[in-house]
Amino acid sequence: MDRLRLRWVGFTLALLITGLAPLSGSGAQQNRYMVLIDPAHGGDEAGVLADKLREKDLTLNLALLIRQEAQKGANFDIQLTRSADRTMTMSERSKAIGALQPDCLLSLHVNAGFGKKAAGYEVYFPGFRQTIAGGGDSIVILKDMEKNSYLNDSVRLAQQIQASLETVFPRKGRGLRDAPSPLLDVLTIPGLIVEVGFATCTEDRKKLTDEETQKAIARALVRGLRTYFQKVP
Ligand SMILES: [Zn+2]
Repeated sequence: MDRLRLRWVGFTLALLITGLAPLSGSGAQQNRYMVLIDPAHGGDEAGVLADKLREKDLTLNLALLIRQEAQKGANFDIQLTRSADRTMTMSERSKAIGALQPDCLLSLHVNAGFGKKAAGYEVYFPGFRQTIAGGGDSIVILKDMEKNSYLNDSVRLAQQIQASLETVFPRKGRGLRDAPSPLLDVLTIPGLIVEVGFATCTEDRKKLTDEETQKAIARALVRGLRTYFQKVP
């Protein structure tokens, strides 16, 4: 992960934290879950560029395909942070999250770097920090436990997403990763960053720009989300 990617992960995780009202789950209250898909980049900000692949287009296309796929009877609704090629600041994304209060969030990216041999998808979840603050303050402890349950849900969601992506890219996953961000203090919903593959790897790039593979990725992500919600305690 180069410095730019690190910054992106930091940004996205920061927006997970800052954009949310205290308790999310408006969808769950209506017995219908809501998933917010965040196609990263857009407009003036193209993201990774490699050959004909443009990250901003690919993430948007995937998000639209995911929404289409979920409409075929998934147990959740999909909302998108953007549904067109437009520049979106972090604060706009953050506001969208705060307004919608989704049950979980997937931020879609395309990977690059690590040399030409790096390939496969990556799933990042928020990092675990120490869970219980010292001092025996019960309010602090309760807050920490609440926080911890969101983190646990993020890991559970990450495991489902990984399992479903394995069906599209067998043995190509680079595994689940604890996001290297110190900014995870007040995370209130499960959230992941999904790097769908490497633009810098010829084989990945070929797959990612193939419409059938894009559909397969969208189906896999919807399948992972469906399983995750079936198992919500
Ligand atoms: Zn990106």
